Amino acid sequence: MKHILICILFSFSSLGELFADAEKQLDPKKIENKETMVKDLMSKIHERISKYHWDYSLFPQSGWEVYAKTVDKNPLIYFKCGDPEAKNRSLILSAVHGDEITPVYYGFRLVEWIKARPEICENNFVVIAPIVNPDGFLRYTTGTRTNYNKVDLNRNFSTPEWKASAQHLWKSKYSGRRRYFPGENPDSEPETLFQKWLIYNFKPQKILSVHAPLNFLDYDGPKEKIEQEFTDTYLDSCKDLKYTMMKATPDLRYHAYGTFPGSLGNYAGKWLGIPTLTAELPTTHGSRAGAYFGLLEKATKKFIEFKIDGSPKSLDEKIATGTKLLEAKAEETTINSRRHQ
Ligand SMILES: [Zn+2]
Repeated sequence: MKHILICILFSFSSLGELFADAEKQLDPKKIENKETMVKDLMSKIHERISKYHWDYSLFPQSGWEVYAKTVDKNPLIYFKCGDPEAKNRSLILSAVHGDEITPVYYGFRLVEWIKARPEICENNFVVIAPIVNPDGFLRYTTGTRTNYNKVDLNRNFSTPEWKASAQHLWKSKYSGRRRYFPGENPDSEPETLFQKWLIYNFKPQKILSVHAPLNFLDYDGPKEKIEQEFTDTYLDSCKDLKYTMMKATPDLRYHAYGTFPGSLGNYAGKWLGIPTLTAELPTTHGSRAGAYFGLLEKATKKFIEFKIDGSPKSLDEKIATGTKLLEAKAEETTINSRRHQ
């Protein structure tokens, strides 16, 4: 009897710990020591960028929200401004690939740029995640495209065809090169879940993701009328955004790059139906970063101010399902981390 009682008590305490861990991993409200984590991250970034002679004041230690921790225990940070209830909502992501240096500068400078222009957020809601892959950026002296687990985050989203073709394409098209490894499973990485959470939680009507060095602008999202999914107004609105951005970025050629299993454009643009633009800056040279910010400055303002009319009909349902899966993932992550202890 005594043994049974001890067992029951032990099970309850394990269960309690299990959920506490889950919350720590993927519930932003439960992340502890946020300020210290952010300070540590910024110190590491300062050290990493010293060779580029960028202005350190663009990388402040305060003003950040934290979603969760990466595998290397760096915080996944974002900045938000404006009215969370505003109709016009934008999400801007940068530095998804850690060896692409210029987007890091773009993301952080954009946050300071917006802070200096609060009127931009007056009737708009804007979320910026300036460094989606801090582990990749801080690894070695040059950074790595992939994250700490050596997964290409732009191949790790759970797009419908992932299981059937992500690994196959990686082996056939990329000869199994680690730079493009989509992961053993979709949604396996904290950075992928971070981007999904930003989408589910803040419900942006448009997404801009900044990469380098392919020198183009690409659009993924509603392109043609699908009766049960997009209204004419919504479709026209998405097309308008695409052409507005093309006009605003004359230095980047427009290139329909196509999508890959597990890419953001595929997941957010094609699957969720949220217009998603990818800006590829011309090079990854740190010394060019300031000039490249200038290249996107007006276009970014236009992007933020652009009003999308309507939304895909099944978006709310997809977000509700996705949120449930994300919560289940938190539990799974905890179980796995406990197994590895
Ligand atoms: Zn990239």
